Amino acid sequence: MKKTIGFIGLGMMGLPMVERLLQAGYTVSSWDINEINLMKAQQLGSSRSSSPRELAQECPVVITMLPSSKEVETVVLGRHGLYEGVCKGSVLIDMSTSFPPSTKEIAQRLAKQDASMLDAPVAGGVIGAKQGALCIMVGGEEQVYQGCLPLFKVFGDKIFYLGTSGSGHTMKIVSNYLAALSVVATSEAFALAVKAGLQANTVSEVLKISSGRNYSTEFKFPRYVLPRTFDDGFRLDLYVKDLNLAHEMAELFEVPMPISDTVRTIYQRAQEIGLGPQSHTNIVKMIEDDAKVLISG
Ligand code: NAD
Repeated sequence: MKKTIGFIGLGMMGLPMVERLLQAGYTVSSWDINEINLMKAQQLGSSRSSSPRELAQECPVVITMLPSSKEVETVVLGRHGLYEGVCKGSVLIDMSTSFPPSTKEIAQRLAKQDASMLDAPVAGGVIGAKQGALCIMVGGEEQVYQGCLPLFKVFGDKIFYLGTSGSGHTMKIVSNYLAALSVVATSEAFALAVKAGLQANTVSEVLKISSGRNYSTEFKFPRYVLPRTFDDGFRLDLYVKDLNLAHEMAELFEVPMPISDTVRTIYQRAQEIGLGPQSHTNIVKMIEDDAKVLISG
């Protein structure tokens, strides 16, 4: 019989991941501070726990899919947290995009209870979570990673072992830095092309195959921006969080990243005008307003 998996963080990513676990034959027990999301998980077939501590007592493996390290620290080390209920040999897998030094600290604390932690953030968005097509970047002890591989294969088909604790989170921060940058740079490029008289659809077709191509030109613009659906499911607040993580890492390792600073300021301005809870692709609207142009396919 397959293990019971504990799952904490039932948002845009967490709920489809719980659904995939259930479809794969795992029993799932969930927890979230949001009652509505907990009920959605129950409707999918998950049971519910009364606290992270109870979840840790019931489940040898617990997955967190939370906004960031602050929430992971609360759930693990806070009152009635996982740490209070963790058993010898248990594994915590943090699949959120979190801050590597915090990850290392939590892993060290859990090791004192003979429990392990992997950091395993993901790329591929809500669509990837629904389809089991995520890219998963794993850090932590290699033996623990090998033991968790069957579980990772439920969520993704591109799984990388990066190294010691925090390595997966470091990889994800670097990747999201580039992704955040590409959305803004692509918005500016489209604004200029369309205002200069080119057709947005033709610009899109050319950019998809020319040397300026990136994930935004290949996927996000054709799928979410040109048809004006803006429904990819990754809220702008999370990109600000990821750019802040990149900034903190750059300071820690003394790596000058002036482009990162500029892009962070642009996203913070989008947050200030109320775009934070919406899909990050809405940032194109702010760039359109500045340029007085509409980018539509
Ligand atoms: P979300 O905001 O939709 O979901 C977060 C969930 O965590 C919510 O259900 C919320 O109620 C819950 N939560 C918050 N604080 C909590 C706490 N203290 N205790 C228990 N539950 C708590 O976020 P999401 O889009 O699902 O993203 C989750 C993580 O995955 C983030 O780190 C994000 O950066 C990363 N990520 C998201 C996407 C995406 O496309 N949405 C893609 C890749 C990675």
